Amino acid sequence: MSSQGILTIVSGFSGVGKGTLMKCLLSEYPSEYCLSISATTRAPRAGETDGVNYFFVTREQFETMIREDKLIEYARYVDHYYGTPKDFVVEKLSQGINVILEIEMQGALKMKQKYPESLLIFVVPPKASDLEERLVGRGTEPPEVIKNRLRRAAQEAVYMKDYDYIVVNDEVERATRQIHEIITNERDRVLRRDDFIEKLTQELQIYSQQELK
Ligand code: 5GP
Repeated sequence: MSSQGILTIVSGFSGVGKGTLMKCLLSEYPSEYCLSISATTRAPRAGETDGVNYFFVTREQFETMIREDKLIEYARYVDHYYGTPKDFVVEKLSQGINVILEIEMQGALKMKQKYPESLLIFVVPPKASDLEERLVGRGTEPPEVIKNRLRRAAQEAVYMKDYDYIVVNDEVERATRQIHEIITNERDRVLRRDDFIEKLTQELQIYSQQELK
């Protein structure tokens, strides 16, 4: 367990800037994290590439992945499926590499039930109106999709308290640093240091039985 990487799940309302934070985290600390690439049935946005931003698949392909147990979690989000391929996550964690999943709330809470040791971070805007401004400003979704996403944010708000940490995205570098510090501190949580604790305990027992030097 202690040689496993830390599984961190980052969620946040649509438009909060999670993608930018994750990009910044990976470019600041490239050797410390890897980001899982999800499968989705939604269409690529301008500038998105298959296999980089997402694996863009058809609904049939996604349902086959569900049936064949290829996804560690999945959810429907505003008319589309999104899911995390299992093999990549399991392999990286077992190699001691920290894995980040940037996923919505239903999937995040399912992951916490399945893997209680996972670390859940929720990214919020300084104020609610920032979300609408960002979604309209990025111009990648039509108004009815933006409305759906804002409605979804209002529904999700009640579950923020089920996360381990809230990070306010008031400034990209600051928020990125905070996420890095949260994950770094998590390494020292007692439940992740059981090998070290056991070794130290045994050594102390030996020392306590010896004559003083
Ligand atoms: P977008 O369409 O804006 O890229 O993503 C919509 C939402 O789906 C975001 O909240 C994003 O974090 C979430 N999402 C992306 N990949 C996954 C996934 O594999 N599983 C789940 N449950 N949510 C995901």
